[in-house]
Order: sequence, then structure tokens, then C-alpha cells
Amino acid sequence: MKRLYIGTNLKMYKNIRETCDYLAQLEALTRDLDRDEVCLFAIPSYTALHAASGVVSRGAIMLGAQNMHWEEKGQFTGEISPPMLQEIGIEIAEIGHSERRQLFGESAETVNKKVHAALRHGFTALICVGETAREKELGVADERLRIQVKIALHQVEEANLDRIWVAYEPVWAIGVQGIPAEPEYANEKHQVIRTVLKELFPQKGREVPILYGGSVHLANALSFISQPEVDGLFIGRFAWNAESFNELIRAVLLAWRTKTAIGKE
Ligand code: PEP
Repeated sequence: MKRLYIGTNLKMYKNIRETCDYLAQLEALTRDLDRDEVCLFAIPSYTALHAASGVVSRGAIMLGAQNMHWEEKGQFTGEISPPMLQEIGIEIAEIGHSERRQLFGESAETVNKKVHAALRHGFTALICVGETAREKELGVADERLRIQVKIALHQVEEANLDRIWVAYEPVWAIGVQGIPAEPEYANEKHQVIRTVLKELFPQKGREVPILYGGSVHLANALSFISQPEVDGLFIGRFAWNAESFNELIRAVLLAWRTKTAIGKE
């Protein structure tokens, strides 16, 4: 059965107590949902990760880190290594979020190193890609996505593909100034990403989940998830209240069931 993926990046907003309260509430509210049908994940700040891993039951909400260095140890002041995240039971490494690329100089090459490190250490790599407003205006969004995906996955073995997720997050759609993509536009870009994945990985490229992110909220979530190429949602602001997020998850799940049932006809 194809799974639905819904998760949130908490960015630099919640402290330890707020993160733990939020996750405990989200887990309680979503306890009845079948995790074989829907995979929920949350990506708190580093300082909250250890406490968060003590609050969340394994299998209920997967926890991720917002960034990770590719080396195991060394002279890298301010960085966090894969073994440090393993030690506290983190399952996902979010790699190449647009804020890391735009504000902190994350390059396509370092994204690739982090993807390899994530796979070596048993994490799922959640690779974020997306074009800027200028690239969209210049008509090179597809090229940008192809480059980002190809470099991120350079020399990744097909055998590891079940631990790769891709989030399509157009830079202009994210955050407070963001304008959500038109769902049909997002679908087209998911298709571009899928095509690259299939070129790179003929056997398993079609199985990698591709999530949409960028100003998703309750009113537009259903139109995104109803798109044929959208396998899940990666949400910032709207998900940071557990009750609203739970409401969105349930609405999206219903739309997902309808879509997958139609797909089977
Ligand atoms: C994000 O930053 O990855 C994101 C999707 O944020 P928002 O939903 O707030 O636009």
C-alpha cells in the first residue's frame, strides 16, 4: 500500500518545553491513525531533540534533525554529527532546506555529502529542493530542480533509495512572505523531479515519496494532495498548533484515500 507522508519543520520557534508539549499533544490526537497508511514526522530544533525523543513513542511520529554535518567528528565548531543524532534516536536528516541554502551557504555539493552521511548512518534523508522566484521568472525552474536532485543523489546506490524522500519547496512559496504554488504548478514540478528520479534509478525511482511544501494550510492542503504526483505535505507555520495540524492531517487523509482508490480503478 502506498503511504501518505505529512510532516513539519519547526524551524527556530519552539523551545524544549513547547516542543515536548506540542509533540505529546500531536501524538495523543493522532493515536488512532494507522501508521502503515500515514507516516507523520516532526523536525524540532537541535536543543529540543533529545527531550523530544523521550516524549514521542517510536513509530508514532518520526523525528528529524534540521541539518547535520557529514563527518563523524572533527574540528567543526557549531556542527552536529550523524553519531550524535543516532545517539538520541533521530530517524530523519533534513538536508538542503532553502533557508540553509539561501541564508547559510549550503551548496549542492554539501547537500550530496550530507545525503551520503545520512545513508551511511541509517537515517532517512529528506532532501529539499526548489527554485527561486527569479529562476521561475527566467523559465529555468525545471533545470534548477534537475540540477539539485541530480547533485544531491550523485553516487547514491539504488539499494538505499527507500531511505530517500524529496520535498519540493519553491523558495518563493515558503514562510511568512510565501505565496503558495498553484497545485497544478506543483504537480508539474513533482513530475519533473519524478522524471529525474526515474532516469537515475530505473527500478526504484518511482517509489521515492515527493512531498510539497510552501504555505500549506487547511484551505489549500486538499488541492495539493489531490494532485496525482503529490505523495505528501511538508508544512511549516500551519502545523505548529497540534489541534489544527491534526485537523489538516485527517482532512488530507480522506482526500488521499479517494485519490488512491481512484488510482486503483
Ligand atoms: C518550510 O519552511 O519548509 C515551509 C514549508 O514553511 P511554511 O509552510 O510556513 O511556508
